[in-house]
Amino acid sequence: MARLLPTGIASAGAPGGRGASDGGSAGALGCATVYFAAPEAPLPGSAIWLEGGAAGEGREAPVVSHAVTLTEVAPEYATASAVHGRHLLAATAVGEGAELDDETLVRRAESDVRAMRAAGRFGAMPALTPVAVERVPYAQFAQPPGARARRTPASLGMPGLWRASETAHSSSLEGAARGGALAAAAILAGAH
Ligand SMILES: Cc1cc2nc3c(=O)[nH]c(=O)nc-3n(C[C@H](O)[C@H](O)[C@H](O)COP(=O)(O)OP(=O)(O)OC[C@H]3O[C@@H](n4cnc5c(N)ncnc54)[C@H](O)[C@@H]3O)c2cc1C
Repeated sequence: MARLLPTGIASAGAPGGRGASDGGSAGALGCATVYFAAPEAPLPGSAIWLEGGAAGEGREAPVVSHAVTLTEVAPEYATASAVHGRHLLAATAVGEGAELDDETLVRRAESDVRAMRAAGRFGAMPALTPVAVERVPYAQFAQPPGARARRTPASLGMPGLWRASETAHSSSLEGAARGGALAAAAILAGAH
């Protein structure tokens, strides 16, 4: 029977296997998400807001890469008693920004979310109350320019052992699905 390996088994990868391209955990990116409660939707609409700004007069370079008001999609995500308002926003930093300490990250994330709302011309920002910081180290394996050439094959060169992984394509659910399809195709083709 063929065995499929989850990401990370075949290399000295990062905890949880998230750094497991052929390059191991080197260059892997972590992410950190700051959750803010608010009485109104801080960034309105069922949309992922991308931070496209840059450092400018009186403004540090943004650390948030994207943010979404979760309660615009799922109102039940409001914090338990909704004491800080019926909306919950998630603002995520990736890479260097995700390594900032909690206090700095919360301050910078709030500043970025304010700038994003201002850019959307939605008026004054409602009160934002930080309620949690969640960190996922090694959230993405390294994908610098040229990473495509280091995509992993399904075959591990051992009879009956295969790899079905995002590392076959890209650090995404699409990459994971493609990795699974490639492994299935290799098994059906009887390749080693
Ligand atoms: C915070 C976060 C948000 C994300 N958001 C999105 C998104 O919005 N859209 C998107 O497309 N993708 C997103 N992704 C990426 C997506 O989750 C991954 O690309 C996908 O899950 C990879 O699937 P996989 O099967 O290759 O690896 P994984 O899902 O990582 O599965 C590998 C499994 O192997 C196990 N494992 C590792 N080592 C061992 C071992 N030695 N022995 C036994 N088991 C082991 C692990 O515990 C894990 O269960 C996100 C990832 C993170 C971390």
